[in-house]
Amino acid sequence: MIQWRYPLSDIGFGKEEGRAVLRVLRSGWLSTGPVTERFEKAFSEYLGGGCAIAVSSGTAALHLALAAVGMREGDEVILPSLTFVATANSVLYVGAKPVFADIVGPDDLNISPQEIERKVTKKTRAILVMHYGGYPCDMESILRIAKKHGLCVVEDAAHAPGSEYRGGRCGLIGEVGCFSFFSNKNLATGEGGMVVSRNKELAESVRRMRSHGMEALSWDKYRGHLSSYDIRGLGYNYRTTEIQSALGLVQLKKLERNNKKRKKLAEIYRNELREVKEISIPFSPVKDIPSYHLFPVLVAPSIDRNRVMERLKEFGIQSSIHYPAVHLFSLYRKQFGYLKGDLPKTEEVSKRELTLPLHPLLDTRDVKWIAKKLKIAIRESRIG
Ligand SMILES: *Cc1c(COP(=O)(O)O)cnc(C)c1O
Repeated sequence: MIQWRYPLSDIGFGKEEGRAVLRVLRSGWLSTGPVTERFEKAFSEYLGGGCAIAVSSGTAALHLALAAVGMREGDEVILPSLTFVATANSVLYVGAKPVFADIVGPDDLNISPQEIERKVTKKTRAILVMHYGGYPCDMESILRIAKKHGLCVVEDAAHAPGSEYRGGRCGLIGEVGCFSFFSNKNLATGEGGMVVSRNKELAESVRRMRSHGMEALSWDKYRGHLSSYDIRGLGYNYRTTEIQSALGLVQLKKLERNNKKRKKLAEIYRNELREVKEISIPFSPVKDIPSYHLFPVLVAPSIDRNRVMERLKEFGIQSSIHYPAVHLFSLYRKQFGYLKGDLPKTEEVSKRELTLPLHPLLDTRDVKWIAKKLKIAIRESRIG
C-alpha cells in the first residue's frame, strides 16, 4: 500500500464524532431511528426547506429518486457522460435508457443545455444533471428546457452539498436531489446518502421505498406506533444507520467552514498555476457559490497526462481522473451502442483532465508545494 504524502481527499473526524458514535452504541438502537430523523431535519434546514430522506448511499438516493419520479422501462433520461458511473447505473436500475449529452467545453465541464435539447425525443422523461466538482450547472437554461418539453429534472448533487445557484442550494433546484456521504465527499459519513425534495408526495414515496415499501419503520413499531402494515408498491432496503447519521450531524455543522477552507485552497491553486501555459483551469472565473469538491485541471495536448500522474505519485501526491467517459465503458457500448466520437468534448476532457488533492486538512503551504511539484511534473512530461 502506498503511503501518500498528499492523498486526494481526507476526513477530519475529531472528538465530537467519537462521542456522537458512542452515544448511539450505548442507546442500543442502530438502524434508522431518532438520530437519523434529526440528521434529516438538520440537512433540510441547511438546504433551506423541503424534505430530506437519509439512505444508505448516494447510489441508492439516485435509484430512489428516479423511481419516485416514475421512470420506467422504455423511458429516456438525458445525463452527462463526464460523471461517476453511479449516475448512469441508476438509470439502468429503473430500466430506462441513458442518453448522454456532451459537456459545455473545457472551461465548463457541466452538461450543456444546448446538447440536452438536441437529445430530447418523444421518449425523454427526465434530465439528470450532475454538478461537476460542486460547480452548479446552468440550471436556469436546463429548467427552461425541462418545462418546454414536460421533463422532470433530477440533480445528482453528490459533489455539491452547500453549493449555491442564484441564491438557492443545489439539490433543491430541480424536482428531486441526491447527495452522497461517501468517505471522499465534502460531508463524509463513510457510506450514506440523502434524497431531498420540495414535493411532499414524492418524498413520502422515497421514504416508503427506502424500507421495503412499508409505511413505517421498525423504529415506529418499537415505539408502539404500528403493529401491521400493507405494501402498495415495490420497495428496497436502502436504510442508513444511526452511526452514520450521528457522524452526519457533526459533519454537517463543519460543512460551511470546510467548504470555505476548500475555496481558499482552490484560490491558492489558481494563483500558483495561473502562469503555467500547459495547464488550463476549468470554471474560471468562478460563478455562483461552488462547494469546491474537486480541483480539476486540464493539461495541454502536448503533455502526457499519465506521465504527469506517475511523476506526482513519485512525489507522494495522489491525483485522479474525473472521469473516464461513461458512454465508452464496455457495458454501455455493448448495451446501447455508444461509440468513440459520440461526445467529442467529453472525450477530449476525459483525456486531459487531472484532479489534484483538495480537502480541508491541507493548508496554504501544502497547496503551494503540490503546485510546485506539478509544474516540475509537467515540464518532464512533454511529448516528443
Ligand atoms: C460519489 C458519487 C455518487 C455515488 O455515491 P455513493 O455514495 O458512493 O453511492 C454518485 N454520483 C457522483 C457524481 C458521485 O461522485
